[in-house]
Amino acid sequence: MNALNLPAALIERLHDAYGERVGEVLRGYETARPVTFRVNPCKTTRQEVADRLNERHISFSQPEWYEDAFVLCGGGEDCLIGTPPYERGEIYLQSLSSMLPPIVLSPRAGETILDMTAAPGGKTTQMAALSGGKALITACERDAIRYERLCFNLRRQGAERVSALHTDALTLNDGLKFDKILLDAPCTGSGTIAPGSRVRFSDAYLSKCAALQKKLIAKALRLLKPGGMLVYSTCSVLPEENDDAAAYAVSLGARALPVQLPVGIPLLPSRQRTVCVCPDELYEGFYIAAFIK
Ligand code: SAM
Repeated sequence: MNALNLPAALIERLHDAYGERVGEVLRGYETARPVTFRVNPCKTTRQEVADRLNERHISFSQPEWYEDAFVLCGGGEDCLIGTPPYERGEIYLQSLSSMLPPIVLSPRAGETILDMTAAPGGKTTQMAALSGGKALITACERDAIRYERLCFNLRRQGAERVSALHTDALTLNDGLKFDKILLDAPCTGSGTIAPGSRVRFSDAYLSKCAALQKKLIAKALRLLKPGGMLVYSTCSVLPEENDDAAAYAVSLGARALPVQLPVGIPLLPSRQRTVCVCPDELYEGFYIAAFIK
């Protein structure tokens, strides 16, 4: 019996992937991470947010690699949810690891960008913010309820220039062509397990996710302009959804680009040029790979 009552099939997969290092992953799962959020520069400034937190005697830190990211030192989400800055979309609750793929994608003004599987829109709104609201972003989501949530977040975060599409990305017309695509793929979520998580995992579910991820990768490569960039990410630490998906992209002719994360982010072994963040007391498990078509 393990502390989190994890399914035996998941533990077996982790052992196969990481051998003796599996203990690091399990310790990461057992650690409650602090509340983290991102400032929305379309609506406020870092200084204003820091002043508000100081006024309320809420202490915080900031990772060196992202000026807009804040980490609360103590206190739960209820310190922020329902407060005016939260309701006005000046801040967005988001894990630190989940802020990394948009930074790797590095959206610029004027670029056409597809966020292929976008809801609830954390990374869509981050990409809008990173481009100063000037990238031409299309955000696609197939689930109706999650699509509503995406639209709500786009409105609240002031990302009005994003075009939201309620559709299955696999049905998009291949005639559409984008400069950059973020595929933050649906996955087992094996990186995000934390105390209190209800873990849904089976080998069949893993195979289903891996098959869909490959279909989405093939589609993304068809929707990219020649020379365009694909960033593939999951909140999983399992190679079946990560390195195997990256190898598939390469088998379809994509060229892997090196992904480099700031020093100090804990990493698990992964295929060359990709990164797999190891869950710990600050970071969720996450995988990022980047390609040029
Ligand atoms: N990037 C999002 C964020 O940062 O807020 C999280 C995306 S979540 C990992 C994956 C999303 O993909 C889910 O909302 C799921 O409903 C959606 N999805 C799954 N298959 C899809 C498909 N074929 N087309 C479009 N969306 C899809």
